[in-house]
Amino acid sequence: MAKLAVIGAGFGGLALAIRLQTNGHEVTLVERREKIGGRAYVWEREGYVFDAGPTVITDPPCLEELFAGAGRSMADYVDMLPVQPFYRLFWEDGTTFDYTNDEELLFSEIGKLNPADVEGYAKFLDYAGHVYREGYEKLGHEAFLDFKSMISAAPALMRYEAFRSVYAMVSRYIKDEKLRQAFSFHTLLVGGNPYKTSAIYALIHKLEKEGGVWFPKGGTHALVRGLAKLFEDLGGELITGNGAERFETEGDRVSAVILEDGTRLRVDGVGSNADIVHTYADLLKDHPRGMKAARALAKRSYSPSLFVLYFGVEDPYPDVPHHSILFGERYKGLLDEIYGAKELPEDFSLYLHHPTATDPDLAPPGCSTFYVLAPVPHMGNFTGDWDEMAARYGDTILAYLEEHLLPGLRQKIAVRHHFTPKDFSRELNAHLGSAFSLEPVLWQSAYFRVHNRDDKLKNLYFCGAGTHPGAGIPGVVGSAKATAKLMRSDFA
Ligand SMILES: Cc1cc2nc3c(=O)[nH]c(=O)nc-3n(C[C@H](O)[C@H](O)[C@H](O)COP(=O)(O)OP(=O)(O)OC[C@H]3O[C@@H](n4cnc5c(N)ncnc54)[C@H](O)[C@@H]3O)c2cc1C
Repeated sequence: MAKLAVIGAGFGGLALAIRLQTNGHEVTLVERREKIGGRAYVWEREGYVFDAGPTVITDPPCLEELFAGAGRSMADYVDMLPVQPFYRLFWEDGTTFDYTNDEELLFSEIGKLNPADVEGYAKFLDYAGHVYREGYEKLGHEAFLDFKSMISAAPALMRYEAFRSVYAMVSRYIKDEKLRQAFSFHTLLVGGNPYKTSAIYALIHKLEKEGGVWFPKGGTHALVRGLAKLFEDLGGELITGNGAERFETEGDRVSAVILEDGTRLRVDGVGSNADIVHTYADLLKDHPRGMKAARALAKRSYSPSLFVLYFGVEDPYPDVPHHSILFGERYKGLLDEIYGAKELPEDFSLYLHHPTATDPDLAPPGCSTFYVLAPVPHMGNFTGDWDEMAARYGDTILAYLEEHLLPGLRQKIAVRHHFTPKDFSRELNAHLGSAFSLEPVLWQSAYFRVHNRDDKLKNLYFCGAGTHPGAGIPGVVGSAKATAKLMRSDFA
């Protein structure tokens, strides 16, 4: 039995800690914030419950596997509720589109925009099915440690034209511009620009269609708490409010983790779920490998950040579904700016989360909980002072929502707070305040992403959004599976 530490209690860290504990190791999970969850943090204000980040839960089996592996049942820890429609999409000209896996309804929604695209959609779905099997089922939880592993995946990548973008592939089959947006925007949920992200990511469509979209009763954090409870039930030790400050090394091995309060955890191995640049630059700063790897990583391309505004409203808004996407006037032009411009775009496209549509208990009776997010450039591109401008930016978004979807909104807001790129940086140690770590483009995927085990320090491991396969709950839980597999054989 090895003594192992996992740094960071995001979904990836929790999944890794559970798997290691299940394998019989003595695991300490270390989280610097007061509450666990990472991007999936939670705030409670005056009876409103605000999940901080992930809200679209796909592929529940990847989570159920964690419980089943430990001889438990997920249903005993958390109640998962189905969400329909998956999303309602809104355009400024008044067009709406309900995105669902109910085929009859979906075909009718597609037909409303362009009848000819119903046939094209069937072909796109067929393509998405192939890349789902290749990219997710076969390779989604493999550790790409050497170039050979990449070469062996190459034929499939070529066959499915992974070098094309999701948008390009959708456009091959679907002609209507709004439908092209409807079937390509998903990459944004994992930090990818649909015009640059590999077509392999079309697999998200299949993932949602087959497995549905879910939401835990009590909010996403109820699921996070369920995972933590499972870990503790298995005998794992969870430390919160006390982060890792640095690693001690002996030669090319991590020998101890030093916590912020000075506690020294002697370890046989460590898995980091914390930001990849932070891990190398700060935690491994006393070993030459740390600065070298951090410098190399700093040259890579990072996903944008997000501005997120959480607000509780003294009104139920029964007609607003759980998940809405509001497309602004521009799509490609706006995305180009979010992914590269030095300025904050004046317009936005928004995702609106309305969890009380599924679980009214997340707000006081007769009230509703919301968050709205706008993708914005990360702090390496836009260097404006978010602390100074956040409230104004939030006001602009609320005015937009009031005009387009939530009449009378601003009069009825009881509580509000925001999370900016600067908060991603200071609260989560996120490099450049990126919301999703490395940008998910082909040249930063699989072998070209951070390896699940460091190339030099053979007892330092990684899991989470910066590793293969990348961001999103299924992604980081898959990365933890790959890492746990490596650790199981290394510490057998
Ligand atoms: C607003 C938003 C909405 C999203 N929506 C969705 C969605 O609907 N569906 C979906 O699947 N995905 C969604 N995502 C993406 C998904 O949430 C993330 O990719 C995923 O949760 C990241 O998990 P992770 O394992 O990489 O860890 P993180 O959540 O990044 O957690 C890392 C943890 O490490 C901790 N840490 C950092 N430094 C230290 C240290 N030195 N010592 C100890 N701890 C440390 C941090 O505090 C944090 O808790 C969303 C993301 C955001 C931001």
